[in-house]
Amino acid sequence: MVTSLHGTPVVPGLAFGPALVATTEVAADAVAQYVPPTDAAAALEEYDAAAARVADGFRSKAAAATGATAEVLTASAGLATDRGLRGAVRKNLASGQDLLTAVDGAVEQFVTVFTGMGGLMAERVTDLRDIRARVVARLVGEPEPGVGVPDSPSVLVAVDLAPADTAGLDPRRVVALVTERGGPTSHTAIIARQLGIPCVVGVLGAVAALGGHQALVDGQAGTVEIDPEEEKARALVAQDVTERAATASWSGPAATADGRPVKLLANVADASSSAAAADEPVGGIGLFRTELCFLDRQTEPTVDEQAAIYADVLAPFAQDGAYVVVRTLDAGSDKPIAFATHPDEENPALGVRGLRLSFADPGLLHRQLDAVAIAAERTGAETWVMAPMIATVAEARDFAAAVRGRGLRAGVMIEVPSAALLAHRVLEEVDFLSIGTNDLTQYTMAADRMATDLAHLTDPWQPAVLHLVAITAAAGQRAGKPVGVCGEAAADPLLACVLVGLGVSSLSMAAAAVRPVGARVSGVTSRTCEEMADAALAAVDPATARDAARAVLLG
Ligand code: PEP
Ligand code: MG
Repeated sequence: MVTSLHGTPVVPGLAFGPALVATTEVAADAVAQYVPPTDAAAALEEYDAAAARVADGFRSKAAAATGATAEVLTASAGLATDRGLRGAVRKNLASGQDLLTAVDGAVEQFVTVFTGMGGLMAERVTDLRDIRARVVARLVGEPEPGVGVPDSPSVLVAVDLAPADTAGLDPRRVVALVTERGGPTSHTAIIARQLGIPCVVGVLGAVAALGGHQALVDGQAGTVEIDPEEEKARALVAQDVTERAATASWSGPAATADGRPVKLLANVADASSSAAAADEPVGGIGLFRTELCFLDRQTEPTVDEQAAIYADVLAPFAQDGAYVVVRTLDAGSDKPIAFATHPDEENPALGVRGLRLSFADPGLLHRQLDAVAIAAERTGAETWVMAPMIATVAEARDFAAAVRGRGLRAGVMIEVPSAALLAHRVLEEVDFLSIGTNDLTQYTMAADRMATDLAHLTDPWQPAVLHLVAITAAAGQRAGKPVGVCGEAAADPLLACVLVGLGVSSLSMAAAAVRPVGARVSGVTSRTCEEMADAALAAVDPATARDAARAVLLG
């Protein structure tokens, strides 16, 4: 009998409780008994009414939520009443299909398109299927499927969770999330991080193995123990809760136990996340993803408009000693932007994304840099600017010239192995480096960062990735220039110690991760961090690297 399952750890923490399995399908007998209208126009009207009610449901959940959760739900509301989807349903009805078949066919058509686009769009396949189930439920007069309300604190287990399932979760009743699908950047992961619920994704066979059982979830190790000894499990959770409480009250200073300073910074997407980050013990913003401000824009915002948006993000950090790293547009691949991205690329992750967009359209970059310079001037915030997707030394040189020409500090991201290998030469051209471990892992391992099936490869604990981080950090130390990490790796407290041991000078992460990382790093000497780094570098796979680093930490 299976006693434990493994997946990709997303939100650290221990939790124990009975498994609550989420339903994703509508009761089959209700579907079988449903009699669809025979007239295509009447059927389309029924579809419109059902889709509108589903969208209303998303909108009222969005109104009760905040931040990333609200954004995700609002996007789902838009998808439920999407005109393209409705058009596909209408076409299917016109060809003589009954309403349920027409809806199924239309959704599957969109699933194929989204899957083909890859990246963030592929992640939306879960949302599409969730919308289909909800529309079908409305049509056949059943409640929308999803997560029941548990009687006692439970571990929510599902094949996959749609935003609507995760949005209203009460962390007192749902103590952990376990899903079969999804990667570390899926919606489930994003929302679990926001709620601070221990979470493991990509756990194959979780629904079948956990239904009707008790589960002990370890969101740091990525394990789920089935029916553990109850008393022992509860004791472990209690100890973890005490440790996490100590973490929550951590307020700096950010340094190892022996006093080596480590800058902790926040990753932000807009003015509200910047304001929220300013309430945390951070030294500034290590990654402002500017492209996320423009995902829904059809045309390029003017320089003035951009300057106003950037100034709102910079303003909370216009204070002594703080700085903000603005990243120029990282459009393309998983973040298509109507006014910038090249459509119909065969292989967008390896295509014209990030800085590469400026090769054919330098004006796009120069107008953005003008806007950043205006925002920096207006707020007085210390502003650094970096480019994504640098592959060559020449790219770094040209970018630095454009940035310095506007009186700003210039850096580049290390996301492509070629740039990591030549970090010492890149550093001759720029003032700082920031390692994007999400893409560095994707490109080192040749594995799409969104592919659930490849989650074991797209793991920043991959020793090959750690070696590239080591090369880059060592180059920074030799040059006496800052080298930070701003990918998701920085948000993992154990890996953060390894990164410090490899020699990085700053860690930038979602604001919610700052205290756990700060508390962990401040409890460890720089010598131990270095030993953890050596142990991880000596491993041949992520699991061994994690275990080896943890063994050093625990002495
Ligand atoms: C990264 O690749 O690690 C990174 C921080 O950039 P993004 O996740 O926005 O691609
Ligand atoms: Mg990246």
